[in-house]
Amino acid sequence: MNAQLPSPLVPEKLYADRIKVQPMAVHGGARRAKWIILVLCLTIYYALPWIRWNRGPHVPDQAVLLDIWDRKFYFFSIELWPQDIYLLTGFLIVAALALFLATAMFGRVWCGYSCPQTVWTDLFLLVERWIEGDRNARMKLDAAPMTRSKALKRTAKHLIWLGIAFWTGGAWIMYYVNAPTVVAEFWTGRADVSVYLFTFLFTATTYLLAGWAREQVCTYMCPWPRFQSSMFDEQTLIVTYQGWRGEPRRHGRRDPSAVAVGDCIDCGACVHACPTGIDIRDGVQLECIGCGLCVDACNHVMDKSGGKPWLITWDTLARQQAKAQGRTVPLQLLRSRTMLYATLLLTGILVLGFALIARSRFDVTVLHDRAPLFVRLSDGSLRNGYTIKLANKRPEPGVFSVRVEHLPDARLALGDSPQASDASVIIRVDSDSVGEARLLVQATQADLHDGSMEFYFVVTNTETGDETRYESRFMGPGSR
Ligand code: SF4
Ligand code: SF4
Repeated sequence: MNAQLPSPLVPEKLYADRIKVQPMAVHGGARRAKWIILVLCLTIYYALPWIRWNRGPHVPDQAVLLDIWDRKFYFFSIELWPQDIYLLTGFLIVAALALFLATAMFGRVWCGYSCPQTVWTDLFLLVERWIEGDRNARMKLDAAPMTRSKALKRTAKHLIWLGIAFWTGGAWIMYYVNAPTVVAEFWTGRADVSVYLFTFLFTATTYLLAGWAREQVCTYMCPWPRFQSSMFDEQTLIVTYQGWRGEPRRHGRRDPSAVAVGDCIDCGACVHACPTGIDIRDGVQLECIGCGLCVDACNHVMDKSGGKPWLITWDTLARQQAKAQGRTVPLQLLRSRTMLYATLLLTGILVLGFALIARSRFDVTVLHDRAPLFVRLSDGSLRNGYTIKLANKRPEPGVFSVRVEHLPDARLALGDSPQASDASVIIRVDSDSVGEARLLVQATQADLHDGSMEFYFVVTNTETGDETRYESRFMGPGSR
């Protein structure tokens, strides 16, 4: 006998069809803030690679440049070498802590206002609205058969989208190569094939994510909504529908059937304005990006219908619960969770700032010769060979003095001199480059313990006085 599962356990389809979201245009404070942030973010993004920054000769003059070929990153007057990569890690940790703090205090402000997906989707929607009209007109156009006018509108929209996507993808490349050069090379066909490849890749990504995928990125692709809920608590300021005020809903301002009615007239404006297509009245949802456009939409409706504004507002769940019981409780932005994030953030900023200021402007690495480990000279002394690499991170040429410490009566020489006779040697390194020299160290066997001895190379920038030590080993007979 075939046992049949109860029908609620057998879904008709494993995947729900996408319901196209056609957000309605709204006006209000949240929308204005979003426009301002959008203009600010886009201006910074497109303009930054064109800002010049004089760093002296032989160094790129682009203010922000991620020169992965030369393995150097430039941020205005900060220059990061591969050895400084920990600073980049520190910066990412500080950025993450800032995001945690902002989320714990104000919910998903990052998602709703400054996430690139939000910013570019808003821009693409602006184009769509400009060509195809607002929500109702676009829905009508979607349902209408293909006509010449519809085809023209669709073509214009996609061409402008592609133009923006290309501009965006091209700007991204300019962060990695000198902007004026790459633009000239791009249009004359002289740019590297990787430039064309990555421009195409970022153009396609922008076009698909902002034009087609839109809210699907926030709902299904982005991991942030999944774990940002762990930063929320009942004191986090989020976009909230004040159900205690809005319910029970009525249908229109003069609903004759309404007996005890709330402020919500069930007009659906908040749902129509939502870029992720959800109904904020259903409570806190993963899809809500905290943009506040439903607040603007509802305020507009309330304004028009003579109702009290801020039925949808920014508030905490704790305050809402209290209000529903006729009580008021204060806003608690400062609490143990936010204070912990703030302390960690402040500590991170201080440590990062200190590391940035205190970092050495030159780096030293020394390699002992693999073979021979030592050479015995005619006077009985021992000589070891080393290769010293000096990274001069300053925009001026550097003159470095090298001496040794903890190796009695040691003598130094550069190159392949038969005898090392100086207490120190001088190495010159060009600005912003790595100098390499062969270094000979001569010492007597009597000073060695167990056939070898640890000592330090002490390198001093003769102009700035900056000094660094590098531990090494002097080898003799019997050493391992
Ligand atoms: S529910 Fe409101 S705040 Fe949340 S995404 Fe939709 S419009 Fe934005
Ligand atoms: S916009 Fe305001 S009044 Fe209209 S359905 Fe949404 S909550 Fe209710």
